[in-house]
Amino acid sequence: MSCSKCQNSAVIALQHGGLCKNHFIDYFEEKVFKTINKYQLIGRNEKLCVAVSGGKDSLTVLYLTKKYLEKNNLPTNNLIALAVDEGIDNYREKTLVDLKKFCQEHAVPLTIVSFEQELGKTLDKAYPIINKDTNKRPCNVCGVWRRYLLNKHAKKLGADKVITGHNLDDEAQAIIMNMFKANTKLAGRLGPISGLEEHDLFVQRVKPLYFCAEKEVRLYALLQKFQIEFTECPYSKEGYRHHIQEMLNDFEQKYKGTKQGIVNSFLTMLPLLKDQENQTAETKIRSCSKCQEASNKDICNACVMKETIQNA
Ligand code: SF4
Ligand SMILES: [Zn+2]
Ligand SMILES: [Zn+2]
Repeated sequence: MSCSKCQNSAVIALQHGGLCKNHFIDYFEEKVFKTINKYQLIGRNEKLCVAVSGGKDSLTVLYLTKKYLEKNNLPTNNLIALAVDEGIDNYREKTLVDLKKFCQEHAVPLTIVSFEQELGKTLDKAYPIINKDTNKRPCNVCGVWRRYLLNKHAKKLGADKVITGHNLDDEAQAIIMNMFKANTKLAGRLGPISGLEEHDLFVQRVKPLYFCAEKEVRLYALLQKFQIEFTECPYSKEGYRHHIQEMLNDFEQKYKGTKQGIVNSFLTMLPLLKDQENQTAETKIRSCSKCQEASNKDICNACVMKETIQNA
């Protein structure tokens, strides 16, 4: 197949035709920059904290955030990176090596915080203990603690926004997961800008790769020759999300545009869900009596799990 814009050979087949390497890179970057502009994900003089892991999504979003700032003559010294080391053997230590190198090469200051230091144990050690009491899967523990540490440390670092590498596939999965579990409250927290609009205890999370399919991000990272270990987390096949992911990939293969369709139709409902979420959450959010971070209960979920391992 050849590129629909020139005669070079295509590196990807998209719905509207194939694209060669250079035209794909332009298309991809334009899509990300348009998302940032349309949803006003980045404001002038904001301190931006990119949540990074060393994987393809986070390195791509870090690289393109910096490129966006440079292109728009915005200061790049307001850009920082924050990583959470969950303590997953044979996995995270590898991606952190790539991450440190990448941040050094691109002159972005990196902070790394860990489950072990902040919450007492690595994920590998904590999850079997928590699982015994609560039946929680590794991704449930990981998700709660990671969001908790990202928010806590982004605030500490003075960030106005946390930028994440969530892509179209991640979002389509999250939408369907919430729908299957009738979790309308959590659904209201999705979208290109997630979290509550204005709240002292929360730093807003934004997703510039929102409209980029996973395979597009993978290709972009490959074409840009980002040094990445394309390994998967050993727990990734254990969760509910994995089944949803397989189902959506299967549908996408048979019916092109499925994931985009899910996200587009969700976006039309999102303002209603957000209104509902903001009205109820504003009154409910308070600070956790243990750690003073945001919580909708007396003690936040992160502290409850921390206590479980302390008492074990
Ligand atoms: S797959 Fe699950 S356990 Fe692994 S990093 Fe992601 S959320 Fe954490
Ligand atoms: Zn071309
Ligand atoms: Zn707490």
